[in-house]
Amino acid sequence: MICIACGSDEAVLAKSHIISNFVRKRLTGEKGRGGSKKFTFKWIGRSDLPNQDLPKPYLMCKRCDNTLGATVERNTATLLMPENVDLFHEWQQLPILECQIHGVFDEPLPLGIYDYPLSQQFLIEKFALSTAWRALHALAKDDEKLSKDFLISARGRGINQSVIRHLFDDAILEDGFAASLYYWPPQTVRFITGKDDEMPFAWVELGDQNEFLGVAVMFAYWVIIWPLFECEEHQRSEKLNRLNKMCFLNWVASVKKQLSQ
Ligand SMILES: [Zn+2]
Repeated sequence: MICIACGSDEAVLAKSHIISNFVRKRLTGEKGRGGSKKFTFKWIGRSDLPNQDLPKPYLMCKRCDNTLGATVERNTATLLMPENVDLFHEWQQLPILECQIHGVFDEPLPLGIYDYPLSQQFLIEKFALSTAWRALHALAKDDEKLSKDFLISARGRGINQSVIRHLFDDAILEDGFAASLYYWPPQTVRFITGKDDEMPFAWVELGDQNEFLGVAVMFAYWVIIWPLFECEEHQRSEKLNRLNKMCFLNWVASVKKQLSQ
């Protein structure tokens, strides 16, 4: 089995989390002071996946998996959410600004983005990218066509290498291929799951038969969107709007529908 990061051929790869385990640990209360379980997680569209644990596809060798864990994931938890996730006022102290997403509805869709000093912001961006990158590879391994074709194309291989150099060696990422992480509030989560104590977790490739637009990952209070389309500069906002619409309108609706069944 080939490690998606270093390319080494290992007899056994580590079971990688797409979405870092700290998300589940904090939100289920495993790390909370009370220790009580707070939320259940619901996987979308994959009845074979466990409900309470996060799926762990074989993606990276142990060394690469540990490296990402130590350099990116370990320090991101405290940036994304408060120590005590039950306390509303602790959430309010996080530097989350409102931003507007265009192209989804007639009116701009308001979501939250983090606004940290540069070095911490850099960590959040790396976390978003490493999550989306693992989702892309997991989708390809699951034979999802757009992701699979992308990763074997020359362009896809180039972007993949650029992401790996960025994640593991701090090389500058090729322009336009950063992943965005958005915060959406508890009422949005409730709207999607129809429940107070359930969190949706899913990832998806977005596009149509003509074009791969990107990958999106939803987990608890966050959504990551990673644009991967090819475009001239003047087409960029139109394609981004289409990607946003596929994510926040079509995909959210389909998740909501699946959860209500
Ligand atoms: Zn490796």
